[in-house]
Amino acid sequence: MRMYDIISHKKYNKSLSSEEILFFVDGFTRGRIPDYQAAALLMAICINGMDEQEIAYLTQLMAISGDMVDLSSIPGIKVDKHSTGGVGDKTTLIVGPIVAACGVPVAKMSGRGLGHSGGTVDKLESIPGLSMNIDPERFCEIVRKIGISIIGQSGDIAPADKKIYALRDVTATVESIPLIASSIMSKKLAAGSDAILLDVKVGSGAFMKTLDDSISLAKAMVSIGNRNKRNTMALVTNMDVPLGNAIGNALEISEAVLTLRAYGPEDLTTICIELASYMLLLAGVEQSVERCRLLAKRAITSGRAFSKFCQMVVAQGGDSSVLHDGFKKAPIIVPFEAKQAGIITKMDTEAIGMASLALGAGREHMDDKIDYLAGIILEKKTGDKVNAGDILAYLHTSDENKLRNAEEILSSAYTLGRRPSIPQKTIIAVVSENEVKML
Ligand code: URA
Repeated sequence: MRMYDIISHKKYNKSLSSEEILFFVDGFTRGRIPDYQAAALLMAICINGMDEQEIAYLTQLMAISGDMVDLSSIPGIKVDKHSTGGVGDKTTLIVGPIVAACGVPVAKMSGRGLGHSGGTVDKLESIPGLSMNIDPERFCEIVRKIGISIIGQSGDIAPADKKIYALRDVTATVESIPLIASSIMSKKLAAGSDAILLDVKVGSGAFMKTLDDSISLAKAMVSIGNRNKRNTMALVTNMDVPLGNAIGNALEISEAVLTLRAYGPEDLTTICIELASYMLLLAGVEQSVERCRLLAKRAITSGRAFSKFCQMVVAQGGDSSVLHDGFKKAPIIVPFEAKQAGIITKMDTEAIGMASLALGAGREHMDDKIDYLAGIILEKKTGDKVNAGDILAYLHTSDENKLRNAEEILSSAYTLGRRPSIPQKTIIAVVSENEVKML
């Protein structure tokens, strides 16, 4: 078999056989296939796509290219959750404890943030002492004992994806539904859970900017999961506005705590209840999502979900006093004011994520240091009426020199108009193996 022929087949829009996909994944991961040939194939896939069978093979082969996490020592159905990423998305921190409080074990490996979108690992690391570097045995032990542990990715999960993703990043081949779906799902399959709930974001702060693309991505990932015997569903949710009001690591932990205590912002609370309900449904706790919703709401109002979160923080070495007494504040907090009056008709959510990054809350390169106290608290969002001089947001940072850049980015992030735009739904669609239900 020759890589040249595989590239040529895809160039002429032919389906690749399982042997051809194996030849590429194995050869590239082991360094036998050079970057220029792999890049040519990735570009042909970007342009001509892949059918369901090809995507399933590609995903399986990337999943088994490294460690496969074994969660079998934890009794019960383990349901994983994955968000395609956005701004202010702290749902894992809320949904995990809710689900655990309802008796479903949560054994979750999360990622770090990069670019405009934050990561759960960075958020949790803003809690003093908390370790995200926990060995697999201790990880399973914590889940068996208290029902939940969220850690950073350990071991060598899907190394084929790591190598392919690094090449996609520099060859303009990230934006391809088959490649994104197989990349995400290879890591989910390797992470060892029995069922998977996906939160596919759509809008100005998401990877997928259009509803059609987000539904295609959700369908592709749901199909991969179910073909691999993991009960998988997806919610398509709105990322045209940041989720909740807090953006930035410690600020988002505080907002997650507020939500776990039943005082969270409405959009964040709604999405967390919905994600938790579908996870409970996938775990088979109840037969209808309505009943699961009741359980999820009760886990919050009873205080059990917040208590689970505190237990997890303590088990991972964290100082839980910040969850009760609050974090110290960033040394510099300045208001960002509206320059004119009007109604906010649109927010460039990606730009707001970039402004938070500019304040020190995120990283452009994987080894950049994070300012855990930095970020943005939004006072106004899409649909709100403002007068000139009203405070749109507060900017938090430890470095005064970072303010000007963040303010410049923010000044183009709000569109003001005279008439309100049509309010968007927080949850847009539910995608299961057999149907796409628009809400
Ligand atoms: N996230 C991933 O893990 N992979 C992609 O290709 C895109 C987003």
